[in-house]
Amino acid sequence: MAPDGQTLAPNVYDSEPIPEAARAEIDRLLLSGDLFRYTALSDAPVALLEAEFADLLGARYALAVSSCSAALFLSLKALDLPKGAKVLIPAFTFAAVPSSVVHADCEPVLVEVGENYRVDMADFARKLPEADAVMISHMRGHTSDMDAIMDLCDAAGVPVIEDAAHSLGTVWGGRNIGTIGRVGCFSFQSYKLVNAGEGGIMITDDPEIAARAIIMSGAYETNWKKHPGLTNSCAHWQNKLPLYNLRMQNLSAAVIRPQLPLVAERVAKGRAGHDRVAEQLNLSAHLVVPKALGPEERAPDSIQFNLTGGWTDRQALDFQTAAKARGVTVQVFGLSEGNARAFWNWQFLGEVPDLPQTRAMLMRACDVRLPTRLTGAELDYIAAAIVDAAAEVRG
Ligand SMILES: *Cc1c(COP(=O)(O)O)cnc(C)c1O
Repeated sequence: MAPDGQTLAPNVYDSEPIPEAARAEIDRLLLSGDLFRYTALSDAPVALLEAEFADLLGARYALAVSSCSAALFLSLKALDLPKGAKVLIPAFTFAAVPSSVVHADCEPVLVEVGENYRVDMADFARKLPEADAVMISHMRGHTSDMDAIMDLCDAAGVPVIEDAAHSLGTVWGGRNIGTIGRVGCFSFQSYKLVNAGEGGIMITDDPEIAARAIIMSGAYETNWKKHPGLTNSCAHWQNKLPLYNLRMQNLSAAVIRPQLPLVAERVAKGRAGHDRVAEQLNLSAHLVVPKALGPEERAPDSIQFNLTGGWTDRQALDFQTAAKARGVTVQVFGLSEGNARAFWNWQFLGEVPDLPQTRAMLMRACDVRLPTRLTGAELDYIAAAIVDAAAEVRG
């Protein structure tokens, strides 16, 4: 390894260029000024995106909005839960998820997550009886046992929202993630598989949920008529629901649409890159990459692994530093200051619940970005830097 690893280490924060096809469409929109999704009589870029995304995932309805957080919020509102309703969420997720629950006037109930980053089904089953809804974050694409979750929730009559923000392209038992629960929500923020800077979309097969979400997203007056196949439901809800105005604008759709045909290739590259690095990390006695559950086919653009074999906090911090010296940024979720994925930092929830299992996982779980554009040599560089850093600290 070169002594100045900084110059060789790949930059994992740069994005990929947006496909050329977006330019002509953006130019057209700029020339006409047609940026609002409901101005054109038909075929507005946002409406076309919704049709294409629903088709890609195999869902009946799609609603594009300003972010995945907005989609999660609207999903909860569309379920028409009573004020103060309890919503189970995994304790390992991004702060925007409990925030969306609070925003929807509901109360998040955090469920323990295991060393493999997936929902602990015993704790889930214990807490389900008090729940009015369930929101499952497939955190970093890691899919919890959706068969067990759906069995329990269907039996209890509790609706499931899938937070698939970072899971586009993941498949569970042959089904696309996001189509298993009542609603699935995805993000187009820059660190996700499809990059529009910001943006989100929700999918559902339920016309009532779709209609309610469409109205609340800001389809005021009769703008809902530009959403196909929902006339009866939308006419029923018009003026009976508040407008939160969380719409997507046409420029975002112009950036997203030409990336949809690239999803399959990005998923394949991401999976191959992840597995290539995982194989090398798993050769180290100090590191372990938890296996996916059997039915899951991953679509990762990052890798998570655990420090294994009795690391101290000091050693874990030294490991972050040793990796950084090699030009690779490793975040131990629970040890990086103010990490938005560490539940004890969600002070807006009030008292922090006691979740020893999730806490222990977060204190030894590491996060490294692996954008799908990386070459084999770059992936190998990252893997070697991580393995060497662990060996340096653990002797
Ligand atoms: C990124 C992310 C979100 C939030 O998405 P936004 O579009 O930025 O609101 C929510 N949940 C998970 C798991 C995420 O990775």
